Amino acid sequence: MSEQPARVLVVEDEAAIADTVLYALRSEGHAAEHCALGRQALERLRGGGIDVVVLDVGLPDLGGFEVCRQLRTFSQVPVIFLTARNDEFDRVLGLELGADDYVGKPFSPRELVARVRARLRRPAQPAPAEAGWMRQGAFAIDREGRRVRYRDVLLDLTRYEYALLAALLQRPGAILSRAQLMERGWDHASDSADRTVDTHVKTLRAKLRAAGAEDDPIRTHRGVGYALDV
Ligand code: CA
Repeated sequence: MSEQPARVLVVEDEAAIADTVLYALRSEGHAAEHCALGRQALERLRGGGIDVVVLDVGLPDLGGFEVCRQLRTFSQVPVIFLTARNDEFDRVLGLELGADDYVGKPFSPRELVARVRARLRRPAQPAPAEAGWMRQGAFAIDREGRRVRYRDVLLDLTRYEYALLAALLQRPGAILSRAQLMERGWDHASDSADRTVDTHVKTLRAKLRAAGAEDDPIRTHRGVGYALDV
């Protein structure tokens, strides 16, 4: 992990909240910058050099969702949304637009700083390994062979379990909604998407436990989706 201070862009129109967030980030040694408006933030982000964006959903010019949508056309910088309402719809929409995490207002600055830190933790570069296998933490995936190993145990996965795991392994730590998981793994989305995904996650968890997982590497974000710790 890099010890360089991270550059965090805080996009928030309420001065009091912005000040609190900036203060908390700077106390942790991050280099925090501030934009009060969406267009101004996009302009700043086009300039590059930002490691994480903390983005308010309710901005007076461009909403945070629109900022995120435009941002994703030119950058994959991690985005953490600040959502005013504890609104499930907001969160799901935000994640589908390419956000990596969200924090509901009111939030503790400490919690937000922890989320920023989590976004900065990048998976180590995989060591050159056997042909076709890519190592990601405790996992190794062979996408051509559609196989996954966990702690060097080859998992006996169904087609859907593999699809779920492969989707989660594409962006470790990022929360994927059930609809996103469905879209990546199924040929035809079904009406009972949530239940279908949940069922396969359950069997997948059992197989990971059998392969030696002590803490469940698949995190449930209630009402939102799943994320994988590698
Ligand atoms: Ca606002």
